[in-house]
Amino acid sequence: MRRFRWGLREQRLREALVEIGARLYARGLISANDGNFSVRLDARRILITPRGRSKGWLRPEDMVVLDMEGRVLQMGYGGAGPSSEWPMHIEAYRQRPDIAAVLHAHPPFTVALTVSGVPFPSEVLLEVVMTIGKVPTARLAVPSSEDDALAIREWIRDHQAVLLPHHGVVTIGRTLEEAWVILERIEYAAKVYLLSRVLGEARPLPPEFLAVLTSAG
Ligand SMILES: [Zn+2]
Repeated sequence: MRRFRWGLREQRLREALVEIGARLYARGLISANDGNFSVRLDARRILITPRGRSKGWLRPEDMVVLDMEGRVLQMGYGGAGPSSEWPMHIEAYRQRPDIAAVLHAHPPFTVALTVSGVPFPSEVLLEVVMTIGKVPTARLAVPSSEDDALAIREWIRDHQAVLLPHHGVVTIGRTLEEAWVILERIEYAAKVYLLSRVLGEARPLPPEFLAVLTSAG
């Protein structure tokens, strides 16, 4: 059995990243080797998924340790480098000292909204209104670039998720679980919205009811 040099907390976080990848892959929210996830280890370091690998069957030792400038402090097993979309993750942590997890996935119903130019339906489902609120769409940017990080900057400060047009979604949370719940909920809302449009009209919640929900939250 291989032995690795990190503590119990870091081991748990590595295992949690593995679990998130398995869940998202099983649910079809990432395909092929898409998607990348990270978690804050401490004020100076994050753990992030490796480049170019399917996230459906990662192992704890595959994760890469980065500092807050994106420099590799520890490679993944076998010398794996970090996800090429690391600049977006670092940007989110810089803008949001309150968060400890960033997820990026390509959920098909959500991506379809952006391909069609339809804004995210934030006023259709009760649980979206109460727990997520508005989800903005960033401008088009080249994935894995510094520009991709800049494109989310203005939005991630005030929102829990940002859609990337023709590409995917980024969600953040105080924990991995929180960011995962937001991601799944966004995809569920996009799916229900599309089905409603197929059946007829996708009716938003009545304004007076929205007011009650938002004041309750
Ligand atoms: Zn992507």
